[in-house]
Amino acid sequence: MSALGFPAAAGLALADSQLRRNMRNATSTITARRAARVAEVPDWEALRDAGAAIKARAMATMPEQLEALEASVTRAGGQVHWARDAGECNEIVGGIVHGHGAREVIKVKSLATDEIGLNDALAAQGVEAIETDLAELINQLGHDTSSHILVPAIHRNRAEVKLLFERTIARGQDLGWDITAIAEAARRHLREKFLSVPVAISGANFGVAETGTICVVESEGNGRMCLTLPKVLITVMGIEKVLAHWRDLEVCLQLLPRSATGERMNPYTSLWTGVRADDGPEEFHLVLLDNGRTAVLSDEVGRQALHCIRCSACLNSCPVYSRTGGHAYESVYPGPIGAILTPQLRGLDNTSTLPFASSLCGACKEVCPVKIDIPSVLLHLRGRVVREHKRRLSPEALAMEAIGRVFASQRRYEQAQKLARLGRGPIVTAALPGWSTMRGLPEIPAQTFRDWWRTRSQQPANRNGNAPSDRNGTAP
Ligand code: SF4
Repeated sequence: MSALGFPAAAGLALADSQLRRNMRNATSTITARRAARVAEVPDWEALRDAGAAIKARAMATMPEQLEALEASVTRAGGQVHWARDAGECNEIVGGIVHGHGAREVIKVKSLATDEIGLNDALAAQGVEAIETDLAELINQLGHDTSSHILVPAIHRNRAEVKLLFERTIARGQDLGWDITAIAEAARRHLREKFLSVPVAISGANFGVAETGTICVVESEGNGRMCLTLPKVLITVMGIEKVLAHWRDLEVCLQLLPRSATGERMNPYTSLWTGVRADDGPEEFHLVLLDNGRTAVLSDEVGRQALHCIRCSACLNSCPVYSRTGGHAYESVYPGPIGAILTPQLRGLDNTSTLPFASSLCGACKEVCPVKIDIPSVLLHLRGRVVREHKRRLSPEALAMEAIGRVFASQRRYEQAQKLARLGRGPIVTAALPGWSTMRGLPEIPAQTFRDWWRTRSQQPANRNGNAPSDRNGTAP
């Protein structure tokens, strides 16, 4: 993945008129569908409040919830692994795959595994990871990266997909323009893999601490095949996906599909708890992934980003994302949620432009089903960028810092006032180059208030015992 920074990467994206057309069509369709489905729910705001409270409680008690989840999964016959970072997670997964002698694995769409570069890590160990989600398959065949949380190939249109499939899995066959026929090519390609590959890898939408149940929601049924047919199932779950109670799912599973795809309920919701004889995988591994999440949790403002349930409503409603598309964010988490999550997970060093990739219009906050205040987190991160990274680089920031020091001391302040009277134009122009070119300077009075006050105090009181009047106009 390139590292141009958002402004340069967005510039490239905006120059691609086909991409802008694809994005406009896709995001406006999903946004309209979401609005219609949300309007059907009279207590939508109460549901959002409940979702926000559920996530806030789960994050506030995360250590206990994760330990409870580990105990529940183990009790149900699963095995739990803890991964501090991407390298550790890839090693754990690779070790399990090799332990079963597998050279191929099938995958359910998973942002967590994209985040840690699992496919490349497995390839380096001689294992081919086969994406089974249609959009992920399109990206894999096209050596492309995801540009949307839910619809990773949203930047591609039907013609592009048809030509790609004809070049790859259809081996030169003309698929025609019927969307069913194009999708059928992927179905035939994947069916054989579902039936023969012994290990599947998934992410998780939710993990319930109380019961040890893992939940994956999807629209195509490919996930259900991966979760039930292979002998071994490995789930990589970001630790922020933990929920305390089974009943929490009731709220989350209402909020997610309406916000995500504008559906009343999800077409495929798979829930499993450990392993069961003669039913589904014989071996289940849950890998709990940190990879920077505990650091995010320690930031009082930024930790809201961990409440995200990956619905993508903020992406579709964002005027910036819907024009640039997802690649400009140079992360598996694009759009407004990416602008606040990626810098916190990866650090601000290489992501300092992302918190500025927003007009702060607030559309993301309005649609977020768990009420994440994205604009506030963006402002918080912008502040950190300025404090931690730009201070030494920007002349304006340096000038502001110098002015701050002047205002912090009475003596320095008075000296500065004297200096300003002597040569206010040149001094201020030099100190505030950008500011002073756009604004006129007010007249600086001949005498400051403090000087006037000192002079007044030194004059004798009048006959009535009062201090001399300032009616002569001597006061500044
Ligand atoms: S931040 Fe909110 S709106 Fe955006 S993907 Fe996450 S849950 Fe959805």
